[in-house]
Amino acid sequence: MTDYVFPPSDPASLPVIGTQARFPVRRIYCVGRNYADHVREMGGDPKRCEPIIFTKAAEALVESGCEIRYPPNTSDMHYEVELVVAIGPAGINGGIFGYGVGIDLTRRDLQATAKSKGAPWSRAKDFAAAAPCSDITPADQVDLSGAHIVLRQNGEIVQHGRLSDMIWSVEDIIAQIGGDMDLGPGDLIYTGTPDGVGPTVAGDELEGGIEGLAPIRVRIV
Ligand code: MN
Repeated sequence: MTDYVFPPSDPASLPVIGTQARFPVRRIYCVGRNYADHVREMGGDPKRCEPIIFTKAAEALVESGCEIRYPPNTSDMHYEVELVVAIGPAGINGGIFGYGVGIDLTRRDLQATAKSKGAPWSRAKDFAAAAPCSDITPADQVDLSGAHIVLRQNGEIVQHGRLSDMIWSVEDIIAQIGGDMDLGPGDLIYTGTPDGVGPTVAGDELEGGIEGLAPIRVRIV
């Protein structure tokens, strides 16, 4: 047994549909600019815009059903609903353990400042509770071909797209991150958001859904 100077935290983890065992989370990767209509709404050119990779700490995860305290130092937090890929051991289902629905919460005002200065996005993307994610559905229990992705804010649909509209497919993203960084069992990949992103405020109920997957439901307080 390793002796620590204080007790380390338990690893971040998510429930898995159909089992009591949980999915232990290692790293959280996120893909930006992966739906053409969202690239356009952010003022970019989809033809000249490569998807970009950034990360969030595993400790930023929030399970479905939880309340999220509105973060400090922003007056423009945005929702971004995304397909989340849960990476498992190599060789099983192409390394994909399963899928979830996530919300890439973003302090948009801090992101705009960072972009204008060419500074990192960390403060905009990686704050407490910035990574809500649903329970994980094992990959062999769902067929996502043709699936739609939706975000409801207080019951009203505010984002809607098709997974097939992704510029980079799940396989493309896994190959890209796996060949470039450090992709392994326990990693989550938020695969980018369709258009319709917008602000969320205290009191909002957010529900993200993808056909065949458990929804993510959180309340901003
Ligand atoms: Mn995003």
